[in-house]
Amino acid sequence: MIDFDERYLVVVSGPSGCGKDTVVKELLRRKSDASLAVSCTTRSKRDYEIDGKDYYFINREQFEKRIADNRMLEYTEYNGNMYGTPLDELENKLADRNTVVLVIEVNGARNVKERYPNSLLVFIVPPSIEELERRLFNRNTETKEEIERRLAIAEEELKHLASYDEVIQNDTVEHCAGMLADIIEEWQKD
Ligand code: 5GP
Repeated sequence: MIDFDERYLVVVSGPSGCGKDTVVKELLRRKSDASLAVSCTTRSKRDYEIDGKDYYFINREQFEKRIADNRMLEYTEYNGNMYGTPLDELENKLADRNTVVLVIEVNGARNVKERYPNSLLVFIVPPSIEELERRLFNRNTETKEEIERRLAIAEEELKHLASYDEVIQNDTVEHCAGMLADIIEEWQKD
């Protein structure tokens, strides 16, 4: 693993459907030195997703091989599938004090913070649970049962807010991305 300034590692979490992917996309548009660490997952690809851009879609055997070869920064099981951040993603992207953003769930975030105490952990909350439910249903990418499981996980995840450095609400994408950019800048100040 390369030597890098931990403050440039930014973890963003938030319940499924809170809009964190859109907020991070807007952040990356504004902040040219920032890039996204693309995760590996064993879940199946949604129609609009692109392999290598949204995720590296791999099977469980390939995932386990990566763990055995020590090629994962962190990983976890979420709703029956494996998700993890490949180490090589970071090695390539963290050079030259570039900010790397990981969009991962709470267990992964905790593991990153344990390993890199100066990394920044930000949690995005939806305006309300009702709004979250509405967004998940409108997204139309999961079955009703899947949405219910994700909502139950969301309620669990909301209990972990205290382990995050900052909590921000996704009222509008622009506002939330702006707050995130400001928080990152403040965190990295020398
Ligand atoms: P989704 O299936 O909706 O894309 O992702 C489900 C959850 O897994 C989300 O909370 C997402 O942030 C999280 N996730 C995505 N990639 C990773 C990863 O590499 N590691 C961990 N720990 N969680 C991830």
